[in-house]
Amino acid sequence: MKTLNREVVIIGSGPAGLTAAIYSARANLKPLLIDAPADAEKQTTPGGQLMITTDVENYPGFASGIDGPALMEEFRKQAERFGTEFLEEWITDVDLSERPFQLEMANHIVYAQTLIIATGASAKWLGIPGEAKVPNGFGGHGVSACATCDGPLPGFRNKDLVVVGGGDTAMEEATFLTRYASKVSLVHRRDKLRASKIMQDKALANPKIDFVWNTAIEEILGEPEAGVTGVRLRNLKTEETRVLPSAGVFIAIGHRPNTDLFKGQLDMDEVGYILTAGRTTATNVPGVFACGDVQDSNYRQAVTAAGTGCMAALDAERFLDHLPVAMPGGDEVTMEGEHVTSDHEAIIEPDGSMVPNHPENI
Ligand SMILES: Cc1cc2nc3c(=O)[nH]c(=O)nc-3n(C[C@H](O)[C@H](O)[C@H](O)COP(=O)(O)OP(=O)(O)OC[C@H]3O[C@@H](n4cnc5c(N)ncnc54)[C@H](O)[C@@H]3O)c2cc1C
Repeated sequence: MKTLNREVVIIGSGPAGLTAAIYSARANLKPLLIDAPADAEKQTTPGGQLMITTDVENYPGFASGIDGPALMEEFRKQAERFGTEFLEEWITDVDLSERPFQLEMANHIVYAQTLIIATGASAKWLGIPGEAKVPNGFGGHGVSACATCDGPLPGFRNKDLVVVGGGDTAMEEATFLTRYASKVSLVHRRDKLRASKIMQDKALANPKIDFVWNTAIEEILGEPEAGVTGVRLRNLKTEETRVLPSAGVFIAIGHRPNTDLFKGQLDMDEVGYILTAGRTTATNVPGVFACGDVQDSNYRQAVTAAGTGCMAALDAERFLDHLPVAMPGGDEVTMEGEHVTSDHEAIIEPDGSMVPNHPENI
């Protein structure tokens, strides 16, 4: 068992974690980046979610688009260039109750003065034949979990597409896809939607969306060259099966943030996304910052993940410089545990009383 002590420890090597590494390495903070090894079941891959996609057409700076894994290789090389240290191991336990924070692995114990969590979120999948990544299925070749990312690709334009789900995500994905598709079939297991009224109304009024009720997808069909060609459907009321031709299937049954390790220690929303303070990446534990999809159930894009990765590195840097950083309650806190108001006008004493923060005003 080896013990390491570091000023900045980052968990996760997707766009958020690697951007945090680039910034903190350039700030000479010698970050240690820990990532889980590739695990198909737990959906972890060093490099993050973009490792399972092909064309990324919307990451700025690549006019002709870039392959997901090639983009992440560039991120990693840039982080390495400034001296980021990498460790590929499962973290089995974390203790955020006092600083330095403690991270336990099979072969290492790491103590961290600041921790940047960038563990991302995983799309939920149906677990049906044909859904896995190529070559085991058609994942990345007609099967996607992100319409914003993949909908505009040429293979989906002016084609009939399928969206699976009944919540807000499914309504949003289906509505978005009608910009490109000739028709979108929205397949849902029940005869009622879970989505909010406003999202339902929008989807139900869209003439390009065809609702297929009380129906499950049993299998995604396709060919190695062409990719997805259709889906096998089963009506859950009549048990009747049929094939619906389609050039693409978008699974829109939600996402699961990778936050199990931090449950009970960090404030989260009801789904498990980590809550951060205002326009910063600060969590409820001073010195712990969260960036990327793990704290963003809304935008979930590589560029927004990278943006918040930059913010987390700057927040950690500020904290290590003994400067106050924002807390969810609206006050700010320093490394020494001093609390100040957000306008820096007053110091908040442990008993709640206020002392002016500007001696010249006393
Ligand atoms: C199929 C697909 C296509 C996409 N296409 C696009 C696109 O074209 N454009 C775009 O902008 N966005 C796209 N996205 C979304 C984009 O990939 C994500 O928004 C982005 O990757 C989020 O970055 P992140 O760094 O927050 O997290 P992730 O990329 O999810 O990275 C999280 C990292 O944390 C690691 N990890 C997780 N749990 C643990 C743990 N317990 N211990 C240690 N490490 C852990 C994982 O191994 C992973 O390396 C796509 C997503 C998918 C699924």
